[in-house]
Amino acid sequence: MSRRALVVVEPRSGRVPAGQLGVLSAAARVCDAVEVLLPVADGDPVDELAGELARHGAGAVRVVTGLPATSAPRVAVVAALHAEEPYDLVAFENSSLSADVAGALAVRLGAGVCWDLSGLDDVDGELVGRRLALADSTSVDVGWVGGPAIAIFRTAALDAVQHPAGDAPRVVPVQVPAATGPEVRLDESPGGADVVRSGLDTADIVVAGGRGLGSQDNIALLEELASVLGGVVGVSMPVVDRGWYPYAHQVGQTGRTVRPRLYLACGISGAVQHRVGMSRSGTVIAINTDPQAPIFDLCDLGVVGDLTEVVPRITALLRERS
Ligand SMILES: Cc1cc2nc3c(=O)[nH]c(=O)nc-3n(C[C@H](O)[C@H](O)[C@H](O)COP(=O)(O)OP(=O)(O)OC[C@H]3O[C@@H](n4cnc5c(N)ncnc54)[C@H](O)[C@@H]3O)c2cc1C
Repeated sequence: MSRRALVVVEPRSGRVPAGQLGVLSAAARVCDAVEVLLPVADGDPVDELAGELARHGAGAVRVVTGLPATSAPRVAVVAALHAEEPYDLVAFENSSLSADVAGALAVRLGAGVCWDLSGLDDVDGELVGRRLALADSTSVDVGWVGGPAIAIFRTAALDAVQHPAGDAPRVVPVQVPAATGPEVRLDESPGGADVVRSGLDTADIVVAGGRGLGSQDNIALLEELASVLGGVVGVSMPVVDRGWYPYAHQVGQTGRTVRPRLYLACGISGAVQHRVGMSRSGTVIAINTDPQAPIFDLCDLGVVGDLTEVVPRITALLRERS
């Protein structure tokens, strides 16, 4: 039986984030035909985006122009496409917007949603989602009764896999149906728009701080280093709990999952609930006064020292060099 999928992506600054290409790659691995719904703004490089999507497994790219950042038009478009020719799988990378769309779509189509997935497989002809549980210490299998299978994947959880250059994708313009139903605005979701604005999900470099900062004033040290490196500030949960920095920047089990090229952990002990949000980073550098801190077990480079001395020195050295 031929299996069809639709992957809904949201380009940012003219690019499809790597995590969303990872979702597309996962869908392409278990489906015979994969389409992508690509909302674009005027001036977005549609051909370039479609080419990149094709290299990651898209056979057709459905382009919709000028969509507001709300769920209702997306739900209407996906439901209309599904009515034309049903999908077996509709997949998203996690965000406030995609959670709104997936939930509303499930109600509209009488389908089920599995969320926070970190993998997807075909087991004896059935789609099986992989979901981490019990503080990410174990993986459980989840499935769908009926279809389409609506899947929300954890941010940055899947590898983007490029295929050898094949046929150019079919690029098909899509109109938004006239009646789209009630609107759900992204900026009404708690923290939703802030998370997108923070840039944490797609950051190449994250300069993160924990309780070892000692006071809110020392956040400025992270911000200066992040600015010199072209990175984004991340924080552990105690920093958010104390009101030192917004929740949109929290990394970990109850925050964001990040996968930057470089993760600097300053004054962070390395508790499991923090590690699950950053353990797939490229290079990890830890700065901590305690040589026994668990973060040193997973870092590539460890500095035993006081962050209030080490961080400004790194910033100054980088400034000298640039
Ligand atoms: C259900 C649940 C969900 C959770 N979700 C999250 C989550 O999403 N994200 C998260 O981060 N946590 C989460 N936590 C909390 C988690 O268990 C830890 O308590 C938290 O990660 C610890 O944060 P920390 O490393 O900043 O603080 P601490 O564990 O207190 O570590 C501070 C570190 O700073 C070092 N230090 C002190 N002074 C300095 C200095 N001057 N210079 C350098 N180093 C210094 C210390 O040696 C220490 O290692 C969750 C917990 C639970 C139960």
